[in-house]
Amino acid sequence: MTDATVTHALAPWLERQRDRLIGHSGHALLLQGPSGLGQCPLALALAQAWLCQQPVSVPNGHALRGCGTCASCHGIAVRTHPDLRVLMPETLMLELDWPLDESAQKDIDDKKRKASREIRDDATRDLITFTQRTASGERGKVVVIYPADRMNGVTANTLLKTLEEPSGDTRFILATDAQHLLLPTIRSRCVSHDMVGPSHDEGVSWLVTQGLNTALASVLLKAAGGRPDDALSMSERGWTDARWSAIPKALRAGQLEPLQDVSGSELIEVLQKVCHDQLAVQVGGSPRFFEVQALLPHTSLTSLSAWSQALQKSARTAEHPFQAGLMLEALVGQARHALAPPQS
Ligand SMILES: [Zn+2]
Repeated sequence: MTDATVTHALAPWLERQRDRLIGHSGHALLLQGPSGLGQCPLALALAQAWLCQQPVSVPNGHALRGCGTCASCHGIAVRTHPDLRVLMPETLMLELDWPLDESAQKDIDDKKRKASREIRDDATRDLITFTQRTASGERGKVVVIYPADRMNGVTANTLLKTLEEPSGDTRFILATDAQHLLLPTIRSRCVSHDMVGPSHDEGVSWLVTQGLNTALASVLLKAAGGRPDDALSMSERGWTDARWSAIPKALRAGQLEPLQDVSGSELIEVLQKVCHDQLAVQVGGSPRFFEVQALLPHTSLTSLSAWSQALQKSARTAEHPFQAGLMLEALVGQARHALAPPQS
């Protein structure tokens, strides 16, 4: 969820995971799995439960969740809890309205440097100091690190020492969608939890509560590979059900229109989804990202396979700043060729 406040109701699939994880007794938890399933709100909901002054029973009776009204829950909601430390890249902190430390904020305001896209070493050193001091409340301290894969080697090693010898009252929640990028020694010190997404119907219902209509919610949830957060952000970026469903036919006709203004890496991703689904139906499988009726009949397996490989190659260079318009034209030309009906 791009908005990581805990005052908003937690999505139902995250509530279930929170209730299962609250009672977890280790000192470090690793939430892992694809992005767009809500790692960050889940991490904060757990922090809230662990720090709450008057936690309430969850329905299964074995665990206690945050009450949402005490001073501690309020402190988390307004992002100023003294016993919660959130470690994120500065760009993400700013995007999610988390306060930066004063000197970092000043440097950025004075244009001495740009907000960092990595988790900075000095933020990690502050974190170590945080873990060593006494909690201000009675329920210990919590550290949330997200995305944990944005720690560089130095930062990760600093953290590792703390994970090896945790001070008694600090619990760590690491969250990532790129778990393979973490140091194995960090992974091995955490209890891992694989994020679970919603069923299609549950995801659609949740998207409807976020203001999408049912048809749009259903198409975009599928387009986003079942990840509700990503579906929501697609809608925020102007994707409609009609525009998404028009893509395969537009590509065969060589039309650029539905893909106009789609950025380099997203463009490749969209084309890969078309290619994936066309290949799937070609070999008798089910499409994953498009409705069957949006896909093309009569394609060539050979052309699709060659296209798939070409797209993989393009994916590696998609962020290079060469001209977006030329790139779109070249990629649509390639798609048109790959999707042409086989000559008989
Ligand atoms: Zn509370």
